Amino acid sequence: MTQTDHPQQDFTHYLTSHPTHEGFFGEYGGAYLPPALAEVMNEIRDAYNTISRSARFISELRSIRTHFQGRPTPTYHAERLSKRLGAAQIYLKREDLNHTGAHKLNHCMGEALLATYMGKKKLIAETGAGQHGVALATAAAYFGLECDIHMGVVDIEKQAPNVARMKLLGARVVPVEEGLGTLKEAVDSCFGAYLEDPQTQMYCIGSVVGPHPFPVMVRDFQHVVGIEAREQFLDMTGILPDIVTASVGGGSNAMGIFSGFLADPSELHGVEPLGRGTERGDHAASMTYGSAGVLHGFNSYLLQDDDGSPQPVYSVASGLDYPSVGPEHAYLRDAGRVAYHAVDDAAAIEAFYLLSRVEGIIPALESSHAVAHAIRLSREEPELPRSILVNLSGRGDKDMDYVIEKYGFGDEHFA
Ligand SMILES: *Cc1c(COP(=O)(O)O)cnc(C)c1O
Repeated sequence: MTQTDHPQQDFTHYLTSHPTHEGFFGEYGGAYLPPALAEVMNEIRDAYNTISRSARFISELRSIRTHFQGRPTPTYHAERLSKRLGAAQIYLKREDLNHTGAHKLNHCMGEALLATYMGKKKLIAETGAGQHGVALATAAAYFGLECDIHMGVVDIEKQAPNVARMKLLGARVVPVEEGLGTLKEAVDSCFGAYLEDPQTQMYCIGSVVGPHPFPVMVRDFQHVVGIEAREQFLDMTGILPDIVTASVGGGSNAMGIFSGFLADPSELHGVEPLGRGTERGDHAASMTYGSAGVLHGFNSYLLQDDDGSPQPVYSVASGLDYPSVGPEHAYLRDAGRVAYHAVDDAAAIEAFYLLSRVEGIIPALESSHAVAHAIRLSREEPELPRSILVNLSGRGDKDMDYVIEKYGFGDEHFA
């Protein structure tokens, strides 16, 4: 299996040929782990490769998606927002309408189903915005499994409603005090807990990050978003979107929707958080400002200091503040297939207000970054009648109180 890193690469058979058996997308990905953990990951890889292809697993997952999650989620033409901005037509893939209010349940139900096939008793994970924790706690409740969620103390405070949800769903929330008390430290803590008992526990990573097989597994479970969106968009318009865009934290909602369009002529735009600005510690735009490096068991673009240690990161969207990014994104960027752009807090907040008031949809702050990118594209070339499909990865109820307290109701945007 060879691949070439140039823009003319043919993506027709890409999904079945990437990553390699060892989990490499070009030089990115892999599994850089202590031997004990490497063995466990190989076990998960082998189980995933056989179980996920069985007819029984596939039909069970399909049934869960339909009857429990409420899939397919709609694709929606945001006509009023489009008209307000220019000639571009903006469409939204409504993952905010997925059960639990975000795309994350797509991979959590898949991971949890795999865990039951492997005979595991407990699901463990880290969470940032709390969305992955809620999704995994939901999956654990559905399958009758125990659940431990590791969460930074700063995020626990910022995301109180999600903490309450996890507890209601029967999960144990493990507070992580180290460092900045956000997502990165929660990942470290969860890795530690996993090493103590990898036999009865299953570590369910919340994005297309971590050691192989998680980046490919989470991508495959999110692929349904791209398959649905492509079919729905064709149904609605008869053509393919000119641009498909999604926010990129670890990169799972983006890989989900992008994977449906890789072999098409549509442009793919990933949107990273620029936070307060370009200074070290003020953003989490790892593709824009990072360089290749290993963190949490995989090689990818990483915001790192000269000694290779990860930099502190920040974004108004807790789900985006991670110093690395899924290895497949690093590969697709180098291959020239996906372009990455950065959107700052202010633009994301404006998009949050606009979508709420103009369309009646309150978006998650993470998703607001992708909406802000579509808004910017439309304003930049207001005469250009192109179509932009945005993955609206989640709903904003979790962010509402925070936004109102810090920024108000956004009336200044509607004067
Ligand atoms: C977690 C989250 C994200 C970021 O995670 P990805 O893996 O990059 O998709 C984006 N949007 C929402 C709503 C989230 O909860």
